[in-house]
Amino acid sequence: EPLAVPSSLPQCKADFPIFTHHPELVFLDSAASAQKPQQVISAIANFYAQDYANIHRGAYRLSSRATDLFESVREKAAQFFGAPAEGIVFTRNATEAVNLVAYAWGLRHLSAGDVVLVGEMEHHANLVPWHLVAGLRGARVEAVRMTPDGQLDLEDYAHKLATLPVKLVALQHVSNALGTVHPARELVEQAHGRGVPILLDGAQAAPHLPLDLAALGADFYVLSSHKMLGPTGVGCLIARPEVLRDLPPFNGGGDMIREVYPDHSTYADPPSRFEAGTPAIAEVIGFGAALDYLKALGMDQVHAHEQMLLHYALEQLGGIAGLTLYGPDPAQAQRSGVVSFNVLGAHAHDVAGFLDEAGICVRAGHHCAQPLMRALDVASTARASFYVYNTPADVDRLAAELREIVQFFGET
Ligand code: PMP
Repeated sequence: EPLAVPSSLPQCKADFPIFTHHPELVFLDSAASAQKPQQVISAIANFYAQDYANIHRGAYRLSSRATDLFESVREKAAQFFGAPAEGIVFTRNATEAVNLVAYAWGLRHLSAGDVVLVGEMEHHANLVPWHLVAGLRGARVEAVRMTPDGQLDLEDYAHKLATLPVKLVALQHVSNALGTVHPARELVEQAHGRGVPILLDGAQAAPHLPLDLAALGADFYVLSSHKMLGPTGVGCLIARPEVLRDLPPFNGGGDMIREVYPDHSTYADPPSRFEAGTPAIAEVIGFGAALDYLKALGMDQVHAHEQMLLHYALEQLGGIAGLTLYGPDPAQAQRSGVVSFNVLGAHAHDVAGFLDEAGICVRAGHHCAQPLMRALDVASTARASFYVYNTPADVDRLAAELREIVQFFGET
């Protein structure tokens, strides 16, 4: 049964049942995970109710149909991200996609003394897998510095690429903590100019920016469905098919083999080679519905809507004395819809607690980016992040509450 066409921006908030259940909710934590439109929820429920069977075991029609539905999402993702379908591997999330590259590529290609070049602002998901695999291979992980205003220091990047034995670059495309949009094309060109492959962590880019991954040219690109209106339990590793063909498997098991003998096995071509076991079938189908939804809204419109909210928020919050805002001036660097801040004299968790009392959800903490927090010399920040269902009225509510919180902490 056809799913309802999404409402256009900015009316699309009506498509998200969470706001019917919580009419006063101001949800400003989409960088952690996004809310789901009814179209996604229905796609999952309908699949279980009408079409459910395991896939790739097509002895009967129900299973063939489930397989077609699942594989059609690979085609959708290919179109959406501008990459060939054979280059799309479904993982559990962005974290697992980084681990896949770290173990499949890193164990084979890293050796003693080699450097994996990351950024100081990385999410732990793009640090810890490299620590683990570099540790196994005697390689080391070095970080490109960030500028005081939260950009990647491009001089330091060029310098480290030129002077260290870098075997792989692994950088975020967009910062989850500050919203900085890094110059991805330039990062790729510089790495390739040195003959070094590059992984981009697109967990915070894919939900918010129109992407053309073939044009971008990164060797590996990772993302999560749950941050882009889709369900949890699904992510993607996107790579050129010839890059995937050269990689050994990551997990072993059913569905990823060609032939198995008691003492050895041979492996399927990618992407199956990297999809061992029964995948998150319903969730992948839900992810397909999320991609349909975002495509119908238009990623250019999504981006424009968030930019409007970002600029309005920076204007509103920028005028509050006693509030420190982090991240680059949008006149200096591209920013996505993320505003990190602290209230003078208050812990970020207390600020988030007060905001929660007022029905406003923000995140507080180190945002899985402890090296970044150290570079900023703070223990934590509060973070408001925007998505398609947010409105200027949400920003007004946040600003009004923050004015009261600043006053409260100013008086104590
Ligand atoms: N990278 C970045 C920049 C992120 O923001 C996140 C999620 N906070 C991740 C990676 C990891 O995503 P997931 O937890 O879905 O694997």
